[in-house]
Amino acid sequence: MLEEIQPRPKILIIYTGGTIGMIENPTTKALQPFDFSHLIDNVPKINLLDYDIDNIQFNPPIDSANMAPSHWSDIAAAIEDNYDKFDGFVVLHGTDTMAFSASALSFMLENLHKPVIITGSQLPIGEVRTDGEENLITALQVAAACDPSGEPMVQEVAILFENYLWRGNRSTKMSADNFNAFKSNNYPALAKIGLGIHFNEESLYRMPTKRPLKVRYNMDPNVMFLDLNPGITESTLRYLLNVPDIKGIVLRTFGAGNAPTDDWFTRAIRDAVERGIVIMNVTQCVNGGVNNKMYDTGNCLTRAGVISGRDITSEAAITKMMYLFGMGLPSESVKKYLTYSLCGEVTI
Ligand code: ASP
Repeated sequence: MLEEIQPRPKILIIYTGGTIGMIENPTTKALQPFDFSHLIDNVPKINLLDYDIDNIQFNPPIDSANMAPSHWSDIAAAIEDNYDKFDGFVVLHGTDTMAFSASALSFMLENLHKPVIITGSQLPIGEVRTDGEENLITALQVAAACDPSGEPMVQEVAILFENYLWRGNRSTKMSADNFNAFKSNNYPALAKIGLGIHFNEESLYRMPTKRPLKVRYNMDPNVMFLDLNPGITESTLRYLLNVPDIKGIVLRTFGAGNAPTDDWFTRAIRDAVERGIVIMNVTQCVNGGVNNKMYDTGNCLTRAGVISGRDITSEAAITKMMYLFGMGLPSESVKKYLTYSLCGEVTI
C-alpha cells in the first residue's frame, strides 16, 4: 500500500520584538531589540523541523511596552495577506503586553480558522539558560498540529509559554520572573506541554460555522481602565469619569465586583452612564469574576447601569471595547455585545 505523503506544514513567523530577540547593548548593558536573522541563527534546531518556514519582521522590532493598536493592525494585515498561503502563524512578541495583543487579535481576526500562536521569552534567545528556544520550537509545532481529519488543531489566537498553551483572550501575564509567565485564571489550558504536546480538546475554540476570515482593523483607543482604591474621592472619580473623548471604561472593582455604596459614588457613575459612557465592571482579583447579585455593593453598580464583565480578563475587556467602538456601534449596541461571548473570552 502506498503511504500517503503529507505536505510539509507551512508556517509564517511574524517577529515583532520583545526579549526573545534582544541583545545586550555593550555600552549601556540595557537589552535592545535585534534583527530576526540573529534570532534564527541562535535556534539551529528549527532546521530539524520538516516545515516550510517564512518570516516577516517589524522594522524596527519593538519592546511590547510600545505596542499600540496600529501594531495590532500590522500583525493582522500580515496574517490576512498570507492567510491562504500558510497553515499557521507564530507571532514573536514581548511578554509585557502579550495578553493585550492576544486579546485584541482574537477580536480583530473574525472567523479565524487557523492557529495564531503568540510566544516570546523571559530571557533573550542568545542566553545560555534561555526559554526562548523551547518556546519558539513548541509554538511552531503547535501551529503545525492537525487533528486526524487534517483540520488545524488550534483554530484561535493562543499564547504558548513554557509548559502551557492558553487561550489568548483568557490570558494574563502573571510573573516578571518565572518561565511559566502566563496563565488563564478562569479557563483551562488548551494544551499541556510535557514530553509531548497534550491538547485539551474540550477547551479548544470551534466556530459554530466556518466562514471566511474578516479582519476588523479599526480599534477605538478612547477607552480606559478606572481602578478603584479604598479612599477614592468624589473629585477624583468625577475627574476620571469626565476624561474628554472617553467612550468606554473598564471599572476595576473589589472582589466579586464590589464598589463603595456611598450616594456620591453611585450618582457619579450613573451620571456618566446617562452621558452615554459604557462602563463594564471587572474584578481586580486574578481569579473568579463579577457576581453583582452577591452583595449590595455590586448591586448598586448594576442599578447605576454598569455592565457585568463576569469572568473576563481586564486585557480582554478593554480590547473588546476598542473593537466594538471601532466598528462604529452606538453605546446601546456596544453594551449588548459586551454581554456576549464573541470568541470564547467570557463564560456565559
Ligand atoms: N519588555 C519586554 C517586552 O515586553 C519584556 C519581554 O519581552 O519579556 O517587550
